[in-house]
Amino acid sequence: MAGKQPPKIEDFLEKRLIAATNEDLEKARAAFRAKLGRDEAALLNSCIHCGLCAEACHYYLSDPQPENLPAYKLGLVIKVFKRHFTPSGRLAPGWVGAKDLDADRVREWIDALFGRCSLCGRCSLSCTMGIGISSLIRTARGLLTSLDLVPSGLDSTVKTAVEKGNNMGIDREDWVETVDWLSEELRTETGDPEASLPMDKTGSRVLYTVNPREPKFFPLSLLAAARIFHAAGESWTLSSADFDATNYGLYSGDDEVSALLSGRLLKTAVALGAEALILPECGHGFNSNRWEAPEWIGRAHPVDVRSILEVTVDYVKQGRIRLDPARNPKKTTLHDPCNLVRLGGVAEEQRFLLKRAATDFVEMTPNREKNYCCGGGGGQLSMTAFADRRIKAGGIKAEQIRKTGAQVVATPCHNCIDQLLELNKFYKLGVEIRTVSEIVADALILDTPDRRD
Ligand code: SF4
Ligand code: SF4
Ligand code: SF4
Repeated sequence: MAGKQPPKIEDFLEKRLIAATNEDLEKARAAFRAKLGRDEAALLNSCIHCGLCAEACHYYLSDPQPENLPAYKLGLVIKVFKRHFTPSGRLAPGWVGAKDLDADRVREWIDALFGRCSLCGRCSLSCTMGIGISSLIRTARGLLTSLDLVPSGLDSTVKTAVEKGNNMGIDREDWVETVDWLSEELRTETGDPEASLPMDKTGSRVLYTVNPREPKFFPLSLLAAARIFHAAGESWTLSSADFDATNYGLYSGDDEVSALLSGRLLKTAVALGAEALILPECGHGFNSNRWEAPEWIGRAHPVDVRSILEVTVDYVKQGRIRLDPARNPKKTTLHDPCNLVRLGGVAEEQRFLLKRAATDFVEMTPNREKNYCCGGGGGQLSMTAFADRRIKAGGIKAEQIRKTGAQVVATPCHNCIDQLLELNKFYKLGVEIRTVSEIVADALILDTPDRRD
């Protein structure tokens, strides 16, 4: 925007930006170019400014200013790409709207690419030219990450996951203690003295992982999964070391960190002799580990990688668990996490389960791959500097929920749960927010014969 002051960025980012040398910027640009495939580079030249992506974005819908347009955010990337990587941009930048990646451009990128996008992918669905806008924004975030210019919160979340083995820095002892306590709960609840949440059990068919928010804040979500595994007679285990299914490298655009984090889980699954790595209700954890990891790591998965939802559907179909919907009589709707549904392809499993586990299931509109992001994705929940925008952008989701008249909102994603809890309070929705497994576990009929043999 000509003549406009560049946006203000956090002080520590400003200091790091000032300290960055021309060589640093040159290296970051080269790394950015290397990550763009031939098709992506071609697409960066193909935006025809039709504006059709505008109505797709919850940021723009909730606050219709030009900076929130997907095409504007993409345009910031295109300008730099043209300047440095196209002949016309090098020779006559003014003619083609090309711009140097200088300090002001970097400030704009931080504000727009981290602060006005949840990488939800909805705009990519509506783009006339088929431009993968969110994926290009992620690649551009990677350039900022290579300059160590990641907003606070997201920066520390990624670094904690790398250094401590999980994004909340939970100690091994605390994790084991929580699991022991949940084993007690499971025994009380099932009346089975042998029931437990197994830890590091080699030869188990399934290695189950969690979002660290579960042991830290929502242990009943993990207990719900354990109740389902127990009822199905599954051979499963947790790992005391590698249990974190999240991968915030997806959001910082750092493929090396992403490969490291996903690689740990896969290695542990192989070391324990598991046939399958099962991911919890975590949208971006699913997308990262199921779909992106083979690309990051450079090889096919050594074990099956599936969502707990897919596995639970199998149990119902195989008659290994039975559900009584009367146990969940409240009107229940479903929020589709972008990373699981639009970007992950798991859409029907949660519906299959909710229709059998609750008596009054209603869809919100739009739904499935057309659903709006709750606003918590793309690392937004961790980046406190952009919290006000996140809550505003979530207004679209709040309205969707209100229109259903539901008392319960189910969502298979712990990121979404945190954002929905905040939206619930801010927009006074008066709903309960639950995972799908929690609803399924409450509907379990436990008086079935033992099917473990
Ligand atoms: S990916 Fe989502 S948040 Fe980002 S620009 Fe597109 S629609 Fe908006
Ligand atoms: S829909 Fe695609 S081509 Fe049209 S303005 Fe948006 S990004 Fe450009
Ligand atoms: S927080 Fe939920 S809705 Fe938002 S991008 Fe992540 S998965 Fe999608």
